[in-house]
Amino acid sequence: MDIKVFGLGPLETNCYVIVNENRAVVIDPGGDPAQVLEFLKKTGIKLDRILNTHFHFDHIFGNAELSAATGTAIYAADSGLSVLDTSVGNGSMMGIQVPAFESKDIAVGTTEMIGLECTVLATPGHAPGSLTFYFPALESAFVGDLIFRRSIGRTDFEGGDTALLQKSVLEQIFTLPGNTALLSGHGPATTVSEEKNHNPFFSSMQF
Ligand SMILES: [Zn+2]
Repeated sequence: MDIKVFGLGPLETNCYVIVNENRAVVIDPGGDPAQVLEFLKKTGIKLDRILNTHFHFDHIFGNAELSAATGTAIYAADSGLSVLDTSVGNGSMMGIQVPAFESKDIAVGTTEMIGLECTVLATPGHAPGSLTFYFPALESAFVGDLIFRRSIGRTDFEGGDTALLQKSVLEQIFTLPGNTALLSGHGPATTVSEEKNHNPFFSSMQF
């Protein structure tokens, strides 16, 4: 098992490639996926599926190209599809246009992918339909833009909700084992314990 990270697109969004044996899952290909395709080609690893934490342009820009090049399906929450009609979803706020893609709904709950258990958590607040993908065997949760090291995701985009974001973190993230790595859409990794102890947005709370 291994996790690779590629900074894709103008905002260097973290695109994660989870590898188990010779299969992989890609989370949030937010820009030109050339580096990811090169990695898959070089290693002979087969892509099983693409996952999106949410439908902001900097997490989905490379969906169409990566999906077409590998013949893999894209999974995300249908409850967030309305975000694609906003400027931060379709890219128009950056003067770009996200290439059109089709995604399949992924249910909240525990499932299996590439031989690994994955719990899909509903973690709205930064964007409607935001998901976290928690892989116990990797001791890692892929949180998108929900929470960052010492910070939280923006809630000033359409559909953002600060109270809902805090509820998502408290109920879905801070209840995971303390040593769980939190792998965010931007910036460095952190852990559940680190953020419980040091995140200023939760510092007044007792855990
Ligand atoms: Zn976002």
